[in-house]
Amino acid sequence: MKLNNGVEIPDIGYGVYEIPPKITKECVLTALKIGYRHIDTAAYYKNEREVGEATRESGIPRNEIFVTTKICLAGNYQKACKKIEDCLARLGLDYIDLLLYHWPSGKNVEVYKAMEDYYKKGKIRAIGLSNFYGKKLDEILANCEIVPAVNQIETHVLRNQKEEQALLESKGIVLESWSPLGNGSKKIFNNEILLKIAAKHQKTVAQVSLRYLYQRKVLIIPRSKNEGRMRENFNILDFMLDEEDIKEIETLDRKKSLLGWL
Ligand code: NDP
Repeated sequence: MKLNNGVEIPDIGYGVYEIPPKITKECVLTALKIGYRHIDTAAYYKNEREVGEATRESGIPRNEIFVTTKICLAGNYQKACKKIEDCLARLGLDYIDLLLYHWPSGKNVEVYKAMEDYYKKGKIRAIGLSNFYGKKLDEILANCEIVPAVNQIETHVLRNQKEEQALLESKGIVLESWSPLGNGSKKIFNNEILLKIAAKHQKTVAQVSLRYLYQRKVLIIPRSKNEGRMRENFNILDFMLDEEDIKEIETLDRKKSLLGWL
């Protein structure tokens, strides 16, 4: 997918939230072997170092791997600059492909300004937000020089965010889904409607759930520690949900967080 500044981002990425640092490098190397070319980490996940090692040691040219990281609790401009430097140092990379402001906290406009300055210096190829809604999002849009490229928010079959996606798209912002599998929730995996649609296409519930978002042009970053499931989540391009499937899936929308978050 092309972002609002022309930078291309692979539409299926690999998320590493809750992957322990001890196994992160191995997991990322496996994901890269399978074909993922987009890794989503964060300072908060405490595994940036291992993501950087895997990226550097994979044998794949740096410009073929898209690395996202996120800063949080940055407070103000100075602190945000320091946090960005720390991300670059931990990753051991010359540049970050996409830097997100993980969630609103503190002086949001100042923090975003720091991100803009690192973007202008060429240290970051695209900047964006995560978990920004309503007034917090409006505040950034009213004060920014560079429109955020993405907003990464909770999005899956039980919270489909269609209205939020339309709003973001009207501003030139791509919706990126966090927890595209609802963080592994049984409410998704045991859902009768999803099981029926999966059986119809001879696919799994995970593949149907991810394909639903993919068909809506939502960026997805599923996470798995298991090689078979990593492959399963990546292999969603050889089938298509029809209108009837989509209608049924959209009856599942609860319009609220499944995970008790923003
Ligand atoms: P996901 O929604 O991707 O679900 C992951 C869970 O589902 C794991 O328990 C995994 O278990 C299981 N799973 C994965 N694939 C399958 C499959 N094919 N069949 C059955 N079970 C499966 O979880 P996350 O919450 O990690 O979200 C994805 C990414 O989004 C994160 O890793 C992170 O990068 C990002 N994120 C960002 C947030 C933000 O605030 N910006 C917040 C939360 C997440 P197993 O490992 O055993 O396969």
